[in-house]
Amino acid sequence: MLVLVINSGSSSLKYQLRDVDTHDDEASSRAVLAEGIVERIGFEGGPSDHAEALGHVDAELAAVLGDRTIDAVGHRVVHGGERFAEPVLVNNEIIRAIERLNPLAPLHNPANVLGLRAISAKWPDTPQVAVFDTAYHRTIPERAWRYAVPDWLYTHHGIRRYGFHGTSHQYVATRAAELLGLEPDEFDGVVLHLGNGVSATAVQAGKSIDTSMGFTPLEGLVMGTRSGDVDPSILVFLGRQGHSPDEIDDLLNRQSGLKALAGSNDMRAVVEAADAGDRRAAMALEVASYRLAKYIGGYHVSVGGAKAVVFTAGIGENSAPFRARVAERLGALGVVLDGALNAVPSKEPRVISAPESDIPLLVVPTDEERAIAEATAAVVRPT
Ligand code: ADP
Repeated sequence: MLVLVINSGSSSLKYQLRDVDTHDDEASSRAVLAEGIVERIGFEGGPSDHAEALGHVDAELAAVLGDRTIDAVGHRVVHGGERFAEPVLVNNEIIRAIERLNPLAPLHNPANVLGLRAISAKWPDTPQVAVFDTAYHRTIPERAWRYAVPDWLYTHHGIRRYGFHGTSHQYVATRAAELLGLEPDEFDGVVLHLGNGVSATAVQAGKSIDTSMGFTPLEGLVMGTRSGDVDPSILVFLGRQGHSPDEIDDLLNRQSGLKALAGSNDMRAVVEAADAGDRRAAMALEVASYRLAKYIGGYHVSVGGAKAVVFTAGIGENSAPFRARVAERLGALGVVLDGALNAVPSKEPRVISAPESDIPLLVVPTDEERAIAEATAAVVRPT
């Protein structure tokens, strides 16, 4: 079965064509038949809209497809609100429901809807599936999703914690269970998605029971350019100082995090600078690793004792120095890193802790496109 995975942004369209029946982990690249990105949609020199962008994708795919056809399209959709707990087959009603969630994800959902509409128009007979970034977190209990604020904020505005990166957390939790020889529903642990966006998820019996991102992806950990947790009064203070909502949004989402602390949101550059004696870079790593360690300790309690702490995404998979800094702070949990194992670069799921570590530390590469393609196939396949 051939699945086209689409990640539609406001000015870009990312795609990957996958054969979901190729289950060959040693050479998983063979499952990917084509991939690319069309950028500058709506800008000078770029396609005028998503429909035109899709024309470019179609032209690229034609050569690869030959006489085969795309069996289904899987869309990454950022916000599924309270309604969507699973991937769903898309129809007009579903597109309208996603559109109604636009206020909750004003940058992302409208762009996802543009992608859904463009593909419905171009390939009306190809089934489309929406896979939501929030869906895995629909199992979070009320004690963890509720903010301690007046009820109308929730009932009128949907203000509650939703969580994001769900497709990645679920995929990685399943893979981590496999590595430990457990069924997915036997896995209790903490999954750390450390990319440009950063989130931690508490997984109990294979289900998300808490996660660090909240109403938006801003809450929680120190990220590339996002602050994570701050005292909300800071926003009020800045508002009273005359800063507009847009300025405050930009400040916390795009000018903060590692970029603010160290001058770069690239973990490689931050580690290099710290190694070369840059004090700000060293402090940035301390702030980020300390905050992360506090969340891990909290989630260890939430899940009733983690069977593993799992690192994934750009930093989690590749930055041995950052993993080492986090591991160092987990001594109170009986965690012991194996420095040599940690230092070996690899694309495979692996253990990086010592045998005597009370909680194993794992590195499990994420693959959101693969997860979306498989979820899509599962929805459209006749049972
Ligand atoms: P996104 O959230 O955009 O998908 P990624 O998962 O690709 O982000 O992660 C981006 C982060 O991963 C950046 O901070 C980058 O510096 C870091 N990163 C990528 N490769 C490496 C590497 N080899 N060593 C250290 N950090 C890396």
